[in-house]
Amino acid sequence: AKRQRDAVPQLFRPELEQEREARLSLERELRHAIDNGELRLHLQPQVNADRHVIGAEALVRWQHPVRGFVSPGEFIPLAEESGLILPLGSWVLQEGCRLLGEWRHRSEFSDLKLSLNVSVRQFQQPDFVDQVLSAFYRHAVAPGRLTLELTESLLLKDPEGTIEKMSLLRRIGVSFALDDFGTGYSSMVYLKALPLDTLKIDIAFVRDLSRDTQSTPIAAAIVALAQSLELGVIAEGVETEMQRDLLAGLGCHQYQGYLFGRPVPVEEFQPTLVAQSEA
Ligand code: C2E
Ligand code: CA
Ligand code: CA
Ligand code: CA
Repeated sequence: AKRQRDAVPQLFRPELEQEREARLSLERELRHAIDNGELRLHLQPQVNADRHVIGAEALVRWQHPVRGFVSPGEFIPLAEESGLILPLGSWVLQEGCRLLGEWRHRSEFSDLKLSLNVSVRQFQQPDFVDQVLSAFYRHAVAPGRLTLELTESLLLKDPEGTIEKMSLLRRIGVSFALDDFGTGYSSMVYLKALPLDTLKIDIAFVRDLSRDTQSTPIAAAIVALAQSLELGVIAEGVETEMQRDLLAGLGCHQYQGYLFGRPVPVEEFQPTLVAQSEA
């Protein structure tokens, strides 16, 4: 029988073809970037109620020789689709652990924890635990210094496997934070079963935080949920004193956001904040 070809010409519309070309070329360049050292980690401070820096989140940056700075919002989704997230994620893990190894020799960094973002695909690699262990070993890192940030979408596929891997890593001292909390698909059943340390309130709920919006009850509910599950809670995207105060009022005492510091190159990262000036 003859194949139905009605739909085919659609796929060759020039704009679509161009878009596909552009994506393929970006993908090729990302592959090259990973192999040729065009990626960098930037660090953003995480602080407690006293404004002490207690940790830093590593955020990957791509300095492209021609395109200039490419934002992770552009290349992380591409990396996920193409599978490049695996070599990219391995690079982040190695580089993060290398940094923690360096910090061992610098007393002002000795109490800081480092948070790394881990993609679902990366976490679901059968050898993910081994990758982490060998990075620790290679850079002589104490596992207690590392937090891995995972997202709720992990639970859509293979929740049992997820829980098992997390438990294993957690037993040796690694911490886990659930990133972008409130934007995903968490089933309360699994949330309770997950061996987590911290919920991370998504920027979406922090951005609109003020006394008269819907975000306040949502943030309040997340903080209450964290407390009832005996988890820590940290808010991301804190930009104003008002947001910080409202969060503190809800019982959230750890923060990350431009109010305390933007992500900066590793060499510029300050493990202490300059004292707050009177507003
Ligand atoms: P995320 O994990 O939710 O990271 C927080 C994002 O919010 C970062 O964007 C950070 O620069 C930004 N941010 C921090 N404080 C503020 C603030 O006060 N106001 C505003 N408006 N934004 C703030 P960035 O660096 O562009 O990263 C975007 C996303 O890319 C990350 O979101 C994360 O999902 C992904 N990503 C970044 N680095 C990695 C990585 O190494 N591995 C993986 N798998 N994903 C990464
Ligand atoms: Ca994150
Ligand atoms: Ca986040
Ligand atoms: Ca987010």
